[in-house]
Amino acid sequence: MTRYLGDDFLLPPLTPNNTPFFTSGSIQIQFCEDCDHAQQPPDDLCYACQGTRLAFRVMPGTGRVESAVLVHHPVHPMLVERVPYLIAIVSIDGAPGCSVTGNVMGCAPETVEIGAAVRAVFETAEDPKSGQKYLIPQWELAAD
Ligand SMILES: [Zn+2]
Repeated sequence: MTRYLGDDFLLPPLTPNNTPFFTSGSIQIQFCEDCDHAQQPPDDLCYACQGTRLAFRVMPGTGRVESAVLVHHPVHPMLVERVPYLIAIVSIDGAPGCSVTGNVMGCAPETVEIGAAVRAVFETAEDPKSGQKYLIPQWELAAD
């Protein structure tokens, strides 16, 4: 699969907290084992109870478009060939209050509406320096 923003587009540096999101091939959200609070992005501390017993849970991989913007101005030279492209904030089914940012692929960007059902798809990438493999969550429209 060619990546939505190009195969050379920058990869996020991995940390213990974001590695499940960018490499697992599933939508994983961090939950507090003490109070069941879901939080995104993951952190070392529960935002609700300040507990430290946190674990990732695999979500169904579906969600809804909460907000979207169609970008027409390439803010970086490597994006000149990619405009217009769509950035969406997707609320994650199964994780109340949690949303992630991504692109909605496989459709005309102007057809993506607020509230649209989406499902996760994963772009493959490899860091040319480290050899680290990525499965980057992206989104495509799904039936309601
Ligand atoms: Zn908690």
